[in-house]
Amino acid sequence: MEALLRWRGEDDELISPVDFIPLAEETGLIIPLGKYVLQQACFDAKSLIDQGANIIVSVNISAVQFREESFLQMVQESLQVSGLKSCFLELEITEGVLAKNIQRTQQLLSSLRALGVRIALDDFGTGYSSLTYLKSFPLDVLKIDQGFVRDMLVDKSDAIIVDAIVRISQAFELELVAEGVETLEQVSALQSLGCRIMQGYLYSKPIDYEEFVALLHSGRFGFK
Ligand code: MN
Repeated sequence: MEALLRWRGEDDELISPVDFIPLAEETGLIIPLGKYVLQQACFDAKSLIDQGANIIVSVNISAVQFREESFLQMVQESLQVSGLKSCFLELEITEGVLAKNIQRTQQLLSSLRALGVRIALDDFGTGYSSLTYLKSFPLDVLKIDQGFVRDMLVDKSDAIIVDAIVRISQAFELELVAEGVETLEQVSALQSLGCRIMQGYLYSKPIDYEEFVALLHSGRFGFK
């Protein structure tokens, strides 16, 4: 499961992170906000695991947060206060994190992995994604950007790119997650290419914690 953030506005409507994360990054509020998100995600995952679920929580990390000096300590603290075992936490970073301060980033990622936390490269294949990242940084997971998955059945180029990313992940022995999966046709196309882990609206739209617990208990994902 991936932890996603929404802001409940005054009239109870949900505000998308697209509308407030850039501002939070600009003002520095991303630091306390990111800490809150990570801790809450750890507490929620711990509680689900205590209920018998075998589930990893994946948390998006902003480049601003990642560059903060106390980041590693903050991750350690979140695991400590929640009691979540590190192997159940995955941190999602984007190429924007990897593009700067290469040496420090390598060290930090190594320290996080030494803690037992998994590292995922999010939105892979977009932005300035460089294949050099795959050989320079310790990574565990690649997440194929949803744009490729969305159009892979109608656009041959997208299908070719997905195929190539699947092969790269296999060769580098990285786990692969296809994002933005919405139809069974996409599932079988991805499966035939060798992709086994999928995420998207086909499985669930973003839901709150209580709904998520109910979804798990519904038995749809083999958990009772
Ligand atoms: Mn993500």
